[in-house]
Amino acid sequence: MRELQESFLHAGARRAATHLLATMSMTLLATLTLFPWATTAQDLTIRAGHLVDVARGTALTDQEIVVRDGVIVGTGPWRHSPGATPDGAFLDLSDRYVMPGLFDTHTHMSLVVDRQKDGGNFFVTSLLDNTPYRAIQGVANARDMLAAGFTTIRDVGNSGNYGDTALKSAITEGLVPGPTMHTAGRIIAPFGGQFFLQPEKRSLGEPEYFYADTPGEIVKAVRENLHFGADFVKIVVDDQRYIYSVDEIKLFVDEARRAGTYISAHCWTEQGARNAIAGGVHTIEHGPYMPNDVLEAAREAGVWIVGTEFTVEGLSQSFTGDDLSAIEAEHEAFVDRLRRAHALGVPYVFGSDIVYTKEGETRSSLTFTILDNFRKAGIPPADQLRAMTVNAARMMGLDNERGQISEGLAADIVAMPSNPLEDTRALEDIDVVVKDGRLFRMAGRTGY
Ligand SMILES: [Zn+2]
Repeated sequence: MRELQESFLHAGARRAATHLLATMSMTLLATLTLFPWATTAQDLTIRAGHLVDVARGTALTDQEIVVRDGVIVGTGPWRHSPGATPDGAFLDLSDRYVMPGLFDTHTHMSLVVDRQKDGGNFFVTSLLDNTPYRAIQGVANARDMLAAGFTTIRDVGNSGNYGDTALKSAITEGLVPGPTMHTAGRIIAPFGGQFFLQPEKRSLGEPEYFYADTPGEIVKAVRENLHFGADFVKIVVDDQRYIYSVDEIKLFVDEARRAGTYISAHCWTEQGARNAIAGGVHTIEHGPYMPNDVLEAAREAGVWIVGTEFTVEGLSQSFTGDDLSAIEAEHEAFVDRLRRAHALGVPYVFGSDIVYTKEGETRSSLTFTILDNFRKAGIPPADQLRAMTVNAARMMGLDNERGQISEGLAADIVAMPSNPLEDTRALEDIDVVVKDGRLFRMAGRTGY
């Protein structure tokens, strides 16, 4: 506790400081007790040395953020005289860059591909790991993501039999810490899903995939998924020779829309992306092979690109096949597509699709490697931050709740020592995380 106090609470008027330390200690203790996550949000004042405005791409110095019941109720210049501090819980981040919590819009919390165990083949992973175990893996990944600064995620399926919706419920109920989640439930796909089965073992692709091959099956699959807790519907358009047609995709979109939600479409091929855009989907996941006219069609239709720009390592660890030149070509296709999408003004957001593991790394540390490709594509840091905050919130329909530090939005706030507007590698050093007004992490310590 002493080092926390020393690093965050600069000396001020003695009485104020003592009061402060007591308040902070209580706050920290509250976050470090056995069920820290169940504590209610406290009123909190934050002093931000540099407050990053992600929408404008600027930073203001010496600002304050006032939080009540987990919601930001005011921001503005720090207005207390030197040495004085506000009443109540106070977080002094006067030596930090402060910004809204990050979004990762393409995650699989309950899928952990381990090459030692499954050869890097997630079909094998789905056979070896049952849903309860995968939900527990999801708990660990969600906690790790939150500690790294990801306060909102979209989980796009591959969680066995609804492991993702169970994880979301546990987080929402305060049972375990984690980001705000939107989940897809079971991914709906033509027969086989993303796997290649043999006739004697035709059932092995379920429940990982929810097959829907006829209009009736499509409607039923959407309804069943939503019934079991999915927030949106994820479909695989084109991983088999038989890809979803425009009419089939329209049926998905209409059914989802009637229930107040949208279709997220996995597309790998050019034709798949064309069909998805014509069918009216909300997002294209991946989409490495989209020529400019397809990107322009996406822009005109308001379709978001969730890019999942894979690194060479990510491609080689997550999928079978060791043809390095093919992997490098695929990686380059992703970077080139991102560069063109940015130049053409197509709306895109940050989505990692990290499922692989690496010695000494965590899910969140690997997630940040995707930004290497944003840098490689020449995306300015401010636009990288928008793709991870305000634009991601818009895509998820959460822009009235999260994604910026402004009045009326949830207090999802992170801080780091250096300026992310200069270089987004700064995000890898996030060491303070506030989620819905609750201090979860501070200077390397986490509330769990
Ligand atoms: Zn994925």
